[in-house]
Amino acid sequence: MNKIFRCKNCLNMSTRPRIKFDSRGWCNACVWMEEKKTLDWGARRKELQCFLNKYRSPDGGFDCIVPCSGGKDGSSIAYRLKHLCGMNPLTVTVAPPLSLDIGNRNLTNFIESGYDHIHIHANNEIMRKLNKIGLVEKGFPYYGWLELIKKAVIRVALNFGVYLIFYAEDGEVEYGGSTETKNRASYDLEYIKRVYFEGGLPPDIEKRFSKKDLYWWSFPSEEELKNKALCCVHWSYFENWDPYKNYLIAKEHCGLQEQENSNQGTFTNFAQNDQALYALHTYLMYLKFGFGRATRDAGIEIRRGALTREQALYLVRMYDNNYPEDYIPMYLDYYRMSQKEFDEIIDKWANKNLFEKRNGRWEPTFKVE
Ligand SMILES: [Zn+2]
Repeated sequence: MNKIFRCKNCLNMSTRPRIKFDSRGWCNACVWMEEKKTLDWGARRKELQCFLNKYRSPDGGFDCIVPCSGGKDGSSIAYRLKHLCGMNPLTVTVAPPLSLDIGNRNLTNFIESGYDHIHIHANNEIMRKLNKIGLVEKGFPYYGWLELIKKAVIRVALNFGVYLIFYAEDGEVEYGGSTETKNRASYDLEYIKRVYFEGGLPPDIEKRFSKKDLYWWSFPSEEELKNKALCCVHWSYFENWDPYKNYLIAKEHCGLQEQENSNQGTFTNFAQNDQALYALHTYLMYLKFGFGRATRDAGIEIRRGALTREQALYLVRMYDNNYPEDYIPMYLDYYRMSQKEFDEIIDKWANKNLFEKRNGRWEPTFKVE
């Protein structure tokens, strides 16, 4: 563990799953940023046109599905598809647990700016139990919801017979991880299962829940998928991914509002502010791997030229180690746990090679440099 290091360009850490570094010590997110400058984006736009033409409904139905929380990315993609590409998108939101006012407001504003929309509220009790299983057994506090945003959307696609799904960015390629899909427009369900679900629901899940309980969480069978040209694509394949540009588009055209103050654990106020469990998700990411929400946001800002590495270091030192104090009562109530039980789970997931407990809080034993 004394070999941990950070990218020489951004601040991505060597502890990040699937990350690779080149001979200069640049992570693959930064190498990809350079590579994108020489990409033939015109050819990729043509590929996009082919997808749109292939899937455009001949009889006035929906042409594609856009998962959308009301945040900057899904909203701006739906806007482009509808108003710039002439598509008829069906937008789909999977209601998050512990949603926040700002997120609810943004979703309402987005829908009211003129979109067909389906809101999925999966059974709250099942969601709560799955999220608790995720927290306790995997260190993923909204695991049930993470699974759902992929699976329920695919379920809607099959039910409506709309087979082109636009996800936002390929997080692995853009932020550091597996680069296997960087030159591939569409990806298959095997990839989703392997990379996004990291093994899926616990193997004994069927003993704990009935099939009916897990309707939205069940992956379609081979039989259901047979002869359906289901196609999942990332918008980031077709256009140089820029979350800040998405923010500006969503603000101008979809009524997106930002938080008044910066979000928990970071210096930005316009991303991922729709649910309270996100702060716990990134806090646990920090305790497991040594990087938090500010490191991730700083990397995006460095790569788009809005921050220097030096400036980012200050922000990461200031924000990454952020215990989501304000939300703790809400978490205890949601998981139906005592503070002691909750603390024990936090202790279980803290990486003892990177942190030590001082005065009741986990503090890093590594330097941010
Ligand atoms: Zn980097």
